[in-house]
Amino acid sequence: MEFDVVTLFPEIVEAPLSRTILRRAVEEGILTVRTHDLREHGEGPHRRVDDQPYGGGGGMILKPEPIFAAVESVLERHPRSASRTILLSPQGAPFDHAAAVRLSLYGRLILICGRYEGVDERVREGLADEEISIGDYVLTGGELAAMVVIDAVSRLVPRVVGEGESVLRDSFADGLLQHPQYTRPAVFRGMAVPDVLLSGRHEAIAAWRAEMSRANTRKRRPDLLACAGRATPKHDDV
Ligand code: SAM
Repeated sequence: MEFDVVTLFPEIVEAPLSRTILRRAVEEGILTVRTHDLREHGEGPHRRVDDQPYGGGGGMILKPEPIFAAVESVLERHPRSASRTILLSPQGAPFDHAAAVRLSLYGRLILICGRYEGVDERVREGLADEEISIGDYVLTGGELAAMVVIDAVSRLVPRVVGEGESVLRDSFADGLLQHPQYTRPAVFRGMAVPDVLLSGRHEAIAAWRAEMSRANTRKRRPDLLACAGRATPKHDDV
């Protein structure tokens, strides 16, 4: 899976990739993450990428020309058949597990990070295939949002997460939250691990986990129960 991130601040995207399982996946060639400095497509001697909004008001808007040029240059230099261009924006569709599964089925995602007051509307109209928000709040830029998408989508790419840690057991994989997890010691500050987990009885443990998963979901996220078991997207849907 490949990610191409168009940004004014490549270093924000590169830092998390130098650690943890994402680094290993990149080193092993399972993932490719390229950053593209928007400034390189800026105009004039100062490589200008932003301008004042038509109609007045404060702040600066990222101009359409450098963003179109950056994305078109990615498409030309790194052609991929199953490619999706995404604008990170607080006005986009909410990002969730189903969206991460769907996006993991593409071969490559191009992620456009906005800054300042946002991006010229023509990027949304004429360049992005879709617009994604990571939540109902406003960040200063799209880089952290791009990293959230890269991290969540990458975990679903085969071999990124190690064999011992199945993403199929994670929260949301079957529409529910995961059951509680414990490790040693068996008693910590008076709080004991449930007996069943120490029993070695695999069927009883599986039943307890399934029940706790439902109970956790009922208690913390009852809204998820209505959609539990909903089909996740497959390759044919893309
Ligand atoms: N003026 C814009 C608005 O009200 O919709 C917000 C611009 S925001 C300060 C700058 C950039 O941060 C956006 O263009 C977008 O790329 C990114 N961003 C901010 N919040 C985001 C969110 N919740 N999800 C995804 N990207 C976000």
